[in-house]
Amino acid sequence: MSTEFRAVLDRIAAHAEAFREAAPSRPHSPQRSYEEMRAVFDAPTPERGAPMAEIIGELIAKAEPGLANMVGPRFFGWVIGGSAEAGVAADWLTSVWGQNTGNAFATPAACAIEEASAAWLLDLLDLPRTSSIGFVSGATIANFTCLAAARNEVLRRAGWDVEADGLFGAPEINVVLGEEAHSTVFSGLRYLGLGAKRVVSVPVDQNGRMRPGAFAQTIDKLSGPIIAIAQAGHINSGAFDPFEEIAETAHAKGAWLHIDGAFGLWARACPDRAHLARGLERADSWGVDGHKWLQTPYDSAYAIVRDAAAHRRAMLIAASYLPEGSVRHPADYTPELSRRGRGFATWATIRSLGREGIARMVSRHCELARRMAERLSAEPDVEVLNDVVLNQVAVRLGTTLDTETADALTQRTIARIQQDGVCFVGGAHWRGHQIIRVSVINGATSEADIDASAEAILTAWRAERGANA
Ligand SMILES: *Cc1c(COP(=O)(O)O)cnc(C)c1O
Repeated sequence: MSTEFRAVLDRIAAHAEAFREAAPSRPHSPQRSYEEMRAVFDAPTPERGAPMAEIIGELIAKAEPGLANMVGPRFFGWVIGGSAEAGVAADWLTSVWGQNTGNAFATPAACAIEEASAAWLLDLLDLPRTSSIGFVSGATIANFTCLAAARNEVLRRAGWDVEADGLFGAPEINVVLGEEAHSTVFSGLRYLGLGAKRVVSVPVDQNGRMRPGAFAQTIDKLSGPIIAIAQAGHINSGAFDPFEEIAETAHAKGAWLHIDGAFGLWARACPDRAHLARGLERADSWGVDGHKWLQTPYDSAYAIVRDAAAHRRAMLIAASYLPEGSVRHPADYTPELSRRGRGFATWATIRSLGREGIARMVSRHCELARRMAERLSAEPDVEVLNDVVLNQVAVRLGTTLDTETADALTQRTIARIQQDGVCFVGGAHWRGHQIIRVSVINGATSEADIDASAEAILTAWRAERGANA
């Protein structure tokens, strides 16, 4: 190892300490725009190498002003986690160790720790213990992987080998999902040749939950292979589809039932929220993120499939130069061959929180979301649009104003909140209104953070409303 590298490791350790220490007091929005950051990094291709200390020093100095404070305790912008400490530490080691995690004979520790973490995940999420798990980059790819297994199996049952023969000439697959399914589910369907628009969508209620009667009616009319997709944790409301009824109907029809549970699946790890996700253990596959509610650093999600053989048939990578044998090779369960070891950060994060810590964190976030909802809806013309059952709060501003004015003021309020930097929230369009979305999902968030953020949101709103009056 070079002495230069030793010095750089010390340098980044010091920077890491300072960066994390400052997170609670840093503005939660980036202090430079994308345009400004493009200018910062714009430079000709380097002709010659440079000393590492210089490069890393320059990287820190240049990047820092353009970093979002996503690890900060008042970041509520999207449903994303806080990259918690134990996982980050293990993630550093992952890079240091440089294990290409595809083949068990090549990288035994990296592969075994995924298997051990998979057993913990199935236990914590209370899913069938013989399910297989692919460690993937995010819930988008988790959903894709699970749907690939679904496509394989529903066609296999219809006498068609999609891995060998593709989709041309195959029996048509019906895809049924809720009207408000996450956009990335449609990405998965596109990648699989199932089409984003060639789906049957089922009407949802006020909170975005599929109506079970409508689901039954829809699926009843279909013939041939069926893949049904339900959701644990609606991105605006946090709502859960009625899984017990959906699973009953889907299985009576021989459908494969997949659950997109990117963040919501973690309700199952929390005794006082588990009732929301009752019945989803009867599904055939589940996609869930580590980098959201579990707080692992990015590049962490789990594609969980009840039928391990279907999972493997869909993802198997065979090559003469890869040692096989009868053990589990991670590359046979994910779309990638070469990749980082994703088990290290998951293992460390679960070890650091424990079953109790995960349950407590999920429960606390749900209580904090309710606290936020109470604080905001105490304002006369502010309304919380969703039932706050989980960690999501969908806020409508200007209930007495016409929609166009209210929407414009809401957008300006969001910009003002972001600029002000006390907290970070984003927006969405839902149920005919521009809303503010508050996602309480960072491990570090406290009651005081909620109160300060509610105050910052209302102050910005009053300023915009007043400016408009
Ligand atoms: C975030 C999210 C996804 C996509 O997950 P990534 O980790 O961003 O790929 C899918 N579904 C739902 C419900 C989500 O919240």
